[in-house]
Amino acid sequence: MDLGLTPEQIKSRKRFSDFVDEYIAPVADQNDRDEETPVELIKKLGEQGFLGAFIPEEYGGKGMDMVTAGLLCEEIGRGSASLLSLLTINGMVSQAILKWGTRAQKEHWLPGLATAEKVAAFGVTEPDIGSDAKSVETTAELSGNSYILNGRKKWISYGQVADLFLILAQCDGKPTTFLIERDTPGFSTTPITGLLGFRSAMLAEVQIEGCRVPEENLVGRPGFGFSHVTNVALDHGRYCVGWGCLGLAEACLQASLSYTSERKQFGTNLRGHQLIQEMIADMITNIKATRLLCYHAAYLKETGDPGMIMETSIMKYFASRMVNKIANDAVQIHGAHGCGSEYSVQRYLRDAKIMEIIEGSNQMQQIIIAKSGYMNFRLEKRKK
Ligand SMILES: Cc1cc2nc3c(=O)[nH]c(=O)nc-3n(C[C@H](O)[C@H](O)[C@H](O)COP(=O)(O)OP(=O)(O)OC[C@H]3O[C@@H](n4cnc5c(N)ncnc54)[C@H](O)[C@@H]3O)c2cc1C
Repeated sequence: MDLGLTPEQIKSRKRFSDFVDEYIAPVADQNDRDEETPVELIKKLGEQGFLGAFIPEEYGGKGMDMVTAGLLCEEIGRGSASLLSLLTINGMVSQAILKWGTRAQKEHWLPGLATAEKVAAFGVTEPDIGSDAKSVETTAELSGNSYILNGRKKWISYGQVADLFLILAQCDGKPTTFLIERDTPGFSTTPITGLLGFRSAMLAEVQIEGCRVPEENLVGRPGFGFSHVTNVALDHGRYCVGWGCLGLAEACLQASLSYTSERKQFGTNLRGHQLIQEMIADMITNIKATRLLCYHAAYLKETGDPGMIMETSIMKYFASRMVNKIANDAVQIHGAHGCGSEYSVQRYLRDAKIMEIIEGSNQMQQIIIAKSGYMNFRLEKRKK
């Protein structure tokens, strides 16, 4: 496994980084305050091909390799965690279609999703169902050549503006996924505001009242909705979030390096105090450790290794914990300034917390990781 970047990957990273510095980082705090992502910014991401990073070229995407796409998530995460979630969610729906959709669905939807002509949202969570996603209460009933869907979804990122929703419902008691377009009669969204973090990710609650969805919009087979379609999407989501946490942590580190070099207390820069150095040293070390986990997950995905799903869970779990510690220390280092709106570190901390909840909470990751540990332990014993 080669841990060095190719010249092409270094070039791509520079391009991503320049884009973030010019178009994302300078407006991220304002977007956070406005609780909005301007449409022009979404279009810009589309023009750059960033929303098609994981979509193959034959469907209008960029078909980036896993490291390059990871570097993109890292850079976007450095600029704005809310915007990273656009990349994540759009990618989750695209991957679900790519893996489980029909040829017609791929040809119809993927080119638009790759260029931001269409924005996708992922609709699993409901007011009463979160982690136990296979038990969603939204229903789908076959009626002639269509399905009639009824239910509610909550906390849907970019639900306020998305054109296409991947919805998990129960069809005859079997979890099943459907694509629903915003303009379907009976479909409506209500904005969710005042969130702790991801404030510009334009979350919405979704009402689905007697929506008639053509049979062709079924993704995968009835009964595949959770075990196959949603899980592919969540694995992809964790990959993007893990890399995004790395970027967010780097933003915290940069802010802390800069602040401690300027701010003076007790006659010296903060950087001269050893307890501050301890926090900086831990930040650097944790960022390096996370980067290795990200590269490893990328390598396994690139080579199609069966261990890639577990490694991605481990990487997302570690990265989201790490960024919470780092963002917390970044605010600590900034003192009262870290709590005010003049510095971005308060946004970083609020966004970091969300990373431990989305795409399967950290408790869900712990359960998955521990289960696999016991399985492998049994295998090891059997070998002896
Ligand atoms: C900003 C944001 C954006 C989101 N975007 C989307 C989106 O686009 N699409 C979407 O479908 N959802 C989205 N979500 C919802 C998210 O996926 C859920 O919040 C998450 O799955 C957890 O579900 P829950 O909040 O209902 O918590 P619950 O499942 O009710 O869990 C509450 C707490 O109990 C813990 N817990 C639950 N079960 C167990 C157990 N068996 N053992 C130990 N601990 C347990 C959980 O880890 C959590 O800490 C978003 C959430 C946020 C905050």
